[in-house]
Amino acid sequence: MKKDYYGILNLGKEATKEEVEKAYRTLALKYHPDRNPDDPSAAEKFREVTEAYEVLSDPDKRAQYDQYGFASDDQEMPFQYHHVNLDDALRMFMNSFGSGFGSFFGGGDPFGETAFSRRGPEHGEHRAVTLKITLDEADHGVEKEIEFTHLITCTDCSGSGSKGGKPPLECPECGGSGSKRSVRRLGPVQYVTTTACMRCGGEGSIISDPCTRCRGRGMVRETARKSVSVPPGVDSGNRLRISGMGDAGERNAPSGDLFLLIDVQAHRFFERKGDDLYCEITVSYPQAVLGSTVKIRTLEGTVEMKVPSGCAPNTVLRLKGKGMPNIRTPSRRGDLYVKVKVEVPKRPSIKERSLIKKLMDAQGQRKEFG
Ligand SMILES: [Zn+2]
Ligand SMILES: [Zn+2]
Repeated sequence: MKKDYYGILNLGKEATKEEVEKAYRTLALKYHPDRNPDDPSAAEKFREVTEAYEVLSDPDKRAQYDQYGFASDDQEMPFQYHHVNLDDALRMFMNSFGSGFGSFFGGGDPFGETAFSRRGPEHGEHRAVTLKITLDEADHGVEKEIEFTHLITCTDCSGSGSKGGKPPLECPECGGSGSKRSVRRLGPVQYVTTTACMRCGGEGSIISDPCTRCRGRGMVRETARKSVSVPPGVDSGNRLRISGMGDAGERNAPSGDLFLLIDVQAHRFFERKGDDLYCEITVSYPQAVLGSTVKIRTLEGTVEMKVPSGCAPNTVLRLKGKGMPNIRTPSRRGDLYVKVKVEVPKRPSIKERSLIKKLMDAQGQRKEFG
């Protein structure tokens, strides 16, 4: 059985990790079963793109697939296909993109509190707060105290909205049904329309004496503090979910969730792309010519790096495993890429001038080009 995982995600074999993520996200959102309730084939496509993503987003599995994926006739080293079922696929999708994917569907500002669409009365609303952390904290993981506001059940009326917890009265307008029927006749045809009762807002009951603390709402706004643990490897755009810390649900329904929107601040020395880090160092001309061992302060302590002799300006050297931890597998780290710049002194000392002059005499001068 052959499966073209690249084809499934519409990618070429050279696709980068970011391209794999992006392609998967686009297709997973397109085929997500919640979005395609009337199309049973969408769930299978969703499952399939997730399976492809599971393999291509994991460097080890991808390498194995690249090597053996299309040679399954080879009985010695066939690629082990991982069949992902729909439940696994839905779970993986949630893990990859945070559970509040309502915001992907709803559009709008993902960092605004309005991004999380209302789920209806069976859940309280989700809340979101942005959590700024440093690159160092993203590297090690960190415990942070966050402050946020959410709605909690009013303790004065136990969420009933009625003063002293008195039971609400049946709505006199609709007789407790919450809806109003109107009948309209057009010739021989009778049209019956049902609309929500205006008086009680479709509740079927009215509060005659509202609770003074919550003004009949059943909920009050509260500023809360909570200590949260941010795992190593998080990056800007990641969302962490804290279950049940959103708004309280109406009439004792479960609370919504709180989402932490991670914002990793820029670092003075390192630039981050995925799990890899990038930096620049400047060495002297003799160091570049003769080679040198330099020390680089990484997030995990100082490491020594060999600048090879004859190092041309802007050479990029790689320090394997000195990047950021991978959020899913923190023991696996990205790499650190060091760009070596060569300094040309603007104002050499008299001694330097005479030495450089000697070098020029030894090398001769190149004056004609082209
Ligand atoms: Zn009513
Ligand atoms: Zn109240």
